[in-house]
Amino acid sequence: MTEHDEYDYTYQKKITCPYCLHEREGDCDDYGEQDSDIQEECQECGKAFIYTTDYDVTFCSRRVPCLNGGTCEWRTSYESNLGHKIETCRMCGKEQRFLNGERV
Ligand SMILES: [Zn+2]
Ligand SMILES: [Zn+2]
Repeated sequence: MTEHDEYDYTYQKKITCPYCLHEREGDCDDYGEQDSDIQEECQECGKAFIYTTDYDVTFCSRRVPCLNGGTCEWRTSYESNLGHKIETCRMCGKEQRFLNGERV
């Protein structure tokens, strides 16, 4: 058996077999809790191995004018045929509710 550099199968976008380096695309069902062990059998070489999900956390910030004295940009997010309407600000996420056109 050839030893592979550990770098080859850690922090990969795909689930990589540590024995034969067979890769398979991971999807949502394959995501575990951070650092929890998930057992997998390689479809290629049949060896069992364990992988953990490492979440790469990134932060995205944006300017929100309506939190700084500006006006909200309302979008209708819900409307029922009983006259209920909810508008959500597309920028700050605030909601306002209406009943028959009256704000409640
Ligand atoms: Zn394998
Ligand atoms: Zn807003």
